[in-house]
Amino acid sequence: MLKQFLPNEHVKSILDISPEKLVEKGIKGIITDLDNTLVEWDRPEATPELIQWFKAIKEKGILITIVSNNTQARVSSFSNPVEIPFIYSARKPMSRAFKQALSDMKLKREEVVVIGDQLLTDVLGGNRLGLHTILVVPVASTDGIWTRFNRQMERFLLARMKRKGMIHWEE
Ligand SMILES: [Mg+2]
Repeated sequence: MLKQFLPNEHVKSILDISPEKLVEKGIKGIITDLDNTLVEWDRPEATPELIQWFKAIKEKGILITIVSNNTQARVSSFSNPVEIPFIYSARKPMSRAFKQALSDMKLKREEVVVIGDQLLTDVLGGNRLGLHTILVVPVASTDGIWTRFNRQMERFLLARMKRKGMIHWEE
């Protein structure tokens, strides 16, 4: 049960994920969350560092799809300027949007990683489909109102996983 929430990897920031390493692992596509994964939940646009990262990813021939539970207005106004396809109102951890992204990118499950900042939506959703999941530290220490409840649950799950020796990353 707890294993459902356990990410395959954990990194400080999405910028720490190296395009070269992804290629070495045979990864051809990224499904990424938006809020507090790519930028702060209340920042409308990508930062210059993130734009560089997107560029490096695309140059390696890796596809990206932003899959967000947020609204069409929020997700499209972030994604369109950086020319990245997106799915809004995704209802993660439900599988539908993840499957949609896989079929849009025409990739197999083993060719894709899921990146996100939440155990209850991003990691659970990716794990349920057997996708490789990477948890990032939230970009901002604050959250939108709907996320705050999930964070309490997340702290509980993380504490249990630590007690059971399931996670080894540093804080
Ligand atoms: Mg998020």
